[in-house]
Amino acid sequence: MPRAENLVRATDLSRTAPYWNPEAETMPAEQLHAHQRRGVAEVWDRIWSEPIPFYADRYAAAGLSAGEVPDLDAVPRTTKDDLRADEAAHPPFGTHRSVGLDQAVRISKTTGTSGRPVFTLMGPRDLEAAIEMQARTTWTLGLRPGDRFTHPWPGGLYVSAAFTNFFYTRTGVLEIPVGPPVTAEDAREHVELWQLLRPHGFMLTMSQLQIYLDAAASLGTDFTELTAGTTVSLYDLSMNLPGPRSRMEKYLGCRIRTQSGAGDIPGFGAAECEFGTGVHVPHDYLVVQVVDPATGASLPEGRMGHLVVTTIGLDANLVRFDLEDLATLESGPCPCGRTGPRLRVWGRAAEALVLDGVTVLPVHVQGALDEHGGPEFQVHLEESRQAGRLVLSIESTGTGTAEEELLAAALGVPVTVRPIVPGSLPRAAFKPRRTG
Ligand SMILES: [Zn+2]
Repeated sequence: MPRAENLVRATDLSRTAPYWNPEAETMPAEQLHAHQRRGVAEVWDRIWSEPIPFYADRYAAAGLSAGEVPDLDAVPRTTKDDLRADEAAHPPFGTHRSVGLDQAVRISKTTGTSGRPVFTLMGPRDLEAAIEMQARTTWTLGLRPGDRFTHPWPGGLYVSAAFTNFFYTRTGVLEIPVGPPVTAEDAREHVELWQLLRPHGFMLTMSQLQIYLDAAASLGTDFTELTAGTTVSLYDLSMNLPGPRSRMEKYLGCRIRTQSGAGDIPGFGAAECEFGTGVHVPHDYLVVQVVDPATGASLPEGRMGHLVVTTIGLDANLVRFDLEDLATLESGPCPCGRTGPRLRVWGRAAEALVLDGVTVLPVHVQGALDEHGGPEFQVHLEESRQAGRLVLSIESTGTGTAEEELLAAALGVPVTVRPIVPGSLPRAAFKPRRTG
């Protein structure tokens, strides 16, 4: 006899149930605010009572103290660089953590091409919360027990690989994790697997989609036969824009949903419902703010600013963590009935250009180019900043003049386009880089 039963038994929720957790997902605003206030008070108390020196020292220096829970806007933000600096000063894991290596039940490492790796150590409460948050996300995407869902996400210490098996099993969804299509042979093998296993849903980045379209063509088949009638969670910021999204849905014959998350925050996952109104955040675990990058003050709904997250009710204690993403929040009602503001992430703050008072992100360039064949491009950030105009390379057989006029009209900023040979920009097996 096993020591514990039903550890891997899927939910008995009906396929027609609209929510995974109706109480949490449709919580009225006042109740949600009270829940968040209690959560923040607990987080604040832990900083001083455990203590968590990184935060306690930082906040004491800012004139804050244990006695009174401040308004979150008054709490200094923390970035990933701050955590890296703390770990460099106090190796190997810093003084910011509330879950040590010895208490961790899962470990992952956030991706990043520069700097030291930052590990995410999950305690038992973090793992439970992560399973819950991601089960909701899976349900919100429309996946149900008996469905098959596939993704070419990395394995190993990659963040989602730390616990996908738990939440797909719990929701009764058969996960088909094929791993990234690093070589053309991998990609063809994945296409053949999918022809055999017929997934109901896919999670793909745009560059992976391109790789699979090419792989299917080289096999003499059409990839859109696999996506027809399915749900595709397509990781590409242009899917926030109605035009590119509906063109892609038509092309693949599928429903497209967006998702957001962050590897630094245990279990942070959120997805769009069928109404496509931005991702539904698990507000009972995460206090999400969009703030003015200069002052840290919360911005009104619809304004773009830095995405800042405070975790509540977890073992991990992240307070006013600035993801350095540019995002907006929308709080009007969603027809699906889920409550709380929805989030849309538009890009990395480091990739933003402010030209003539206009904020330009790669997604804006992509949106403007989409109607014109969606060529690959690379924005030259430093050069653009120095020149005070958008300078970019675009794969094109023309002189670049047509693209210059198109982008200048769409974005309202001066533009210089350098045409480069089609196919010359690198295609990523996971996420594309659109700046350099
Ligand atoms: Zn909704």
